[in-house]
Amino acid sequence: MPHPDTWLKPLPQGLYCEPGGFFIDPSRVVERAVITHAHSDHARPGHKAVLATAETLALMRARMGPKRAGHAQQALAYGETITINDVRVWLQPAGHVLGSAQVAMEYRGSRVVVSGDYKRTPDPTCTPFEPVACDVFVTEATFGLPVFLHPPPETEIARLLDSVTLFPNRTHLVGCYSLGKCQRLIALLRRAGYDAPIFVHPALAAMCAVYEAGGIKLGDLRAVANAHHLAGAIVLAPPGSAVPAAIKPVIVAASGWMRIRQRAKSSGAELPLIISDHADWNELNRTIDDTGAPEVWVTHGWEAPLIHAAAQRGIRGRALRLVGYGDEDAPDQEAAS
Ligand SMILES: [Zn+2]
Ligand SMILES: [Zn+2]
Repeated sequence: MPHPDTWLKPLPQGLYCEPGGFFIDPSRVVERAVITHAHSDHARPGHKAVLATAETLALMRARMGPKRAGHAQQALAYGETITINDVRVWLQPAGHVLGSAQVAMEYRGSRVVVSGDYKRTPDPTCTPFEPVACDVFVTEATFGLPVFLHPPPETEIARLLDSVTLFPNRTHLVGCYSLGKCQRLIALLRRAGYDAPIFVHPALAAMCAVYEAGGIKLGDLRAVANAHHLAGAIVLAPPGSAVPAAIKPVIVAASGWMRIRQRAKSSGAELPLIISDHADWNELNRTIDDTGAPEVWVTHGWEAPLIHAAAQRGIRGRALRLVGYGDEDAPDQEAAS
């Protein structure tokens, strides 16, 4: 059985499956790409052939236009298997955003799973993460520090709704990125019983439409029009977007980084909510254990602490230091999408 490092290699373009002749989430234009999910740092425009879930392909087309989403697009359902050259490939749910998938690959009896971005906390807008047993598990480490522990999202949503009750005449302006976080916040608000219209910035509306088409119900969404409709309302918009001058909103931010006091402060948010679409420290470690992999490769984020923690449990670690991946909550990522 060949060791995975003989057939899966970190190249400047990204992680390359040599016998399969494809890259996973390449940061540059390639012939053949397998895409874990539609965020801009993973799904770049212009590849020749793209393999992904139907939902990811739909989000990519909505984000970048049908042509730029890939000349030849092939959809693969979760669990459906294809063979690319000598490599068996399938996609497993990653629980990150709609359509997000882990890429499982098997070559001559050796199996690697590339998680992409993922989380374990239930999310009403996407299929839950499913661990896959493997020889090497490739993980992100965006929140790979013990300080990052995300509280249950329901308690954070309750804090937002408490504030709406407390300030019934003010607009709550929630800064969130367009793909994933926005729709999850809306779905969580609906689950908490909030059935008033929710106002969304035009930059977010297109992605909401793809979610709705994918069967994710978001309730009564309205475009942000004139200011007097917005008193007492919840408005979702990309961080820092312009809103009608007449409203003096309560600024709300929703991100895993809000755990860090300085970050919360510099975000300018009066109400920082800790809600993330990435695994926190405990989820990262639990997931590595769930795969049973004797070896873990870390793509980006806080690599060293995660590798150190895994080593203490007898799991070998390797930092891939792949470039080009960020975090969707960073403003520059949003600008790039
Ligand atoms: Zn992502
Ligand atoms: Zn990412």
